[in-house]
Amino acid sequence: MMKDQTQPVMIGVDIGGTKMAAAVVNPAPVPSLLSTPVSIPTPAHDGPQAMVSALVDLIVKVYETSGLVHGTCQGRCVTLVGCGVGTAGVVNVDDQMIVSATDAITGWAGTHLGKDLAHQLARRVKAFQTRERTHTASIAPGVGQDISYAPLAIGTERIHIQNDVDAYAMGEAVAGAGRRYSSMIMAAVGTGVGGAVVLNSTVWRGAHHVAGEVGHMPVALAMDEPCTCGRTGHLEAICAGPSIHRRYLALGGDHCALHARDVEKRADDGDAIALRVYEESARALGKALAGLATVIDPECIVVSGGLSRAGELWWQPLRETFRNELIGPLRTIPLIPGEAGTSAPIIGAAASCWQLPAVQRMNRALNASNH
Ligand SMILES: [Zn+2]
Repeated sequence: MMKDQTQPVMIGVDIGGTKMAAAVVNPAPVPSLLSTPVSIPTPAHDGPQAMVSALVDLIVKVYETSGLVHGTCQGRCVTLVGCGVGTAGVVNVDDQMIVSATDAITGWAGTHLGKDLAHQLARRVKAFQTRERTHTASIAPGVGQDISYAPLAIGTERIHIQNDVDAYAMGEAVAGAGRRYSSMIMAAVGTGVGGAVVLNSTVWRGAHHVAGEVGHMPVALAMDEPCTCGRTGHLEAICAGPSIHRRYLALGGDHCALHARDVEKRADDGDAIALRVYEESARALGKALAGLATVIDPECIVVSGGLSRAGELWWQPLRETFRNELIGPLRTIPLIPGEAGTSAPIIGAAASCWQLPAVQRMNRALNASNH
């Protein structure tokens, strides 16, 4: 009898400061979501143990609701080969450890996320299977013991942990605006300014795990503006949404404006101060990206995040400054908005996990058994 063909799938997770989301991801040829993302609130201030427990709750939820528990998803026969996680904080990808983190997640630094996740997942799976067997036995005596469950226990060798912006960039690189290119610089501009460098379809991590942190690049336009890192004159201090709002008020703007969106509305209506702070945000980013493009010479630059939806009042000075700073051969580098949206970090987290040697070995074994 022919065995059913089984397709490898991953679970991708995005851990943010307020919520965490996860879904089943089809890894190849172009990574895509196979299930609707499930999200839960992040217990950001309850300590790392509560964080890992919530993460396991979320993964088990995806496992149960997507059909993975029975080895199916969207009517296909599937096998879970790995789990990729993108999380806030600076991550040592090789050690699967959070190196440092802001107050957004209390006590997150020092967490061995890969090891803790694998350990708790194995424990939870045991409890889950015992519960299901007991339940099945109670409604159909004698059947429970024979029920088989698709394995959810995933060892650290098939778990991939990385920074959330890196995961986002990976998502844009494989399934979004960067999918036609093998090298890309991404800047994500919203409440902060993050970024990543993707070379040969892999995120470049750097020697200290912070490669691509464009937000803390010194830029002349930011001068004495205070940055969230405690220094002054960094890109984030002039470019990010809260910086735009702060500068608007400091320069004498309308105090009824409560956030960057309000400032944007005023800029659209011709408010001179609002226009100025938006333009300076864009010009500072344009200069910073031109500097990076000159060093890296990427095939494209992707700009995502809340500010990237601001329209021409921001994009026009951004493009203009970027082009004006570049030498001839670099002038054609496309500077484009992100496309993958909120699913980008989930897809990207899974796509990075797909590159792990242990996951590739399992994929080859699956392919062999399919033939
Ligand atoms: Zn800074």
